[in-house]
Amino acid sequence: MKFALQCETQTVAVVLHLKSLSCFYLSEKVFRLKPVLDEHVTLIKDLAKNIEVDFWSPESDEQVTIDIDVDIRVPARYLTLVSTVLQQSDMEHKVLIEDLQAAVDGQADNKPTPRAHSYTKYNTWDDIQSWISSISSSDSDLISKQVIGNTYEGRPMTVLKLGKKSNSAKPAIFMDCGIHAREWISPAFCQWFVNEALSTYGSDSQMTSLLSQMDVYVLPVFNIDGYDYTHKSNRMWRKTRSRKSGSHCTGADPNRNFNAGWCTLGASSNPCSDTFCGYTPESEIEVENVANFIRRNKDSIKAYITIHSYSQLLLFPYSYTYNLAADHSELMKVAQGASAALRSLYGTRYTSGPGATTIYPAAGGSDDWAYDLGETMLAVKYIAAYVQKNLY
Ligand SMILES: [Zn+2]
Repeated sequence: MKFALQCETQTVAVVLHLKSLSCFYLSEKVFRLKPVLDEHVTLIKDLAKNIEVDFWSPESDEQVTIDIDVDIRVPARYLTLVSTVLQQSDMEHKVLIEDLQAAVDGQADNKPTPRAHSYTKYNTWDDIQSWISSISSSDSDLISKQVIGNTYEGRPMTVLKLGKKSNSAKPAIFMDCGIHAREWISPAFCQWFVNEALSTYGSDSQMTSLLSQMDVYVLPVFNIDGYDYTHKSNRMWRKTRSRKSGSHCTGADPNRNFNAGWCTLGASSNPCSDTFCGYTPESEIEVENVANFIRRNKDSIKAYITIHSYSQLLLFPYSYTYNLAADHSELMKVAQGASAALRSLYGTRYTSGPGATTIYPAAGGSDDWAYDLGETMLAVKYIAAYVQKNLY
């Protein structure tokens, strides 16, 4: 595999079904802090140590450094304290979300037909599952499905294979969405992509040529148990839902559970942490299922793409080390080309670079793992076209 990328997708306004969560985040706020001095970093870490703070970006207090935006969710009971501490410090800060409950309620699906699947709302897992079965049988010449294993709670992980049926072996791209449960825009993107690919095949010349010469494997929701949990119980859940006797905390961070510099940097060995790396590499069955599928199809899979939210970043290896990847200059060229392609339509600006230096180090990520699995190693159409022209 020559390319492995992590795309961060910006959230867009969409609607959904969240009635059970009402009043859950009453009076909570999200702050954006801008640390520019070491004292600011220390202040944020002290806050994290002393009160319950949910890190949205970066993903944990250990990853806080100067000159990055730090977004934190603060429970109602700490609001006065946090506001006072921030006012007394000289660190620049603002309230990003004034009323989280109102924002979550705003995602509620209150359209006339709330139960139907839609490409412009956040679908429940049940809706996505029926969508998977209907779309995969819509055109047998262009799409098929296969179950690559079950989740911890027994839900089938179905990979969709897009591409013109062919008798000869075709190079392929693997793309997954929804590794992190609460990043709802990510699975929404994978569903959008599948529809876009199928509906523009035959009319869009690039898509037609792409699907004629290559296959694209799409895993619409990686962390299904977690995703379902965010719809039914806790909108802010991030990890898997696995249990282990002896620990009262549930789940591990699947994007810290891959065997790539596992648990060395930017990951926690505390099972209660949101960035818990798991008990062993691939301890999470969802991670093992995906890793096994990619290992089995290693010869044909030429690129791995994983979609996260929220920010506008196109990241490539490495995240577990500051060392540059062997193909750094080529990866940079491709990422910059993809960013330019993304910008061409609506002017959306994506920043690109290696994970560790562009945002923060984090070990055990799927992109690093996929990259290292390959001998060496790539917005989606651009990357695919590049792979198509440069087969290894
Ligand atoms: Zn993520």
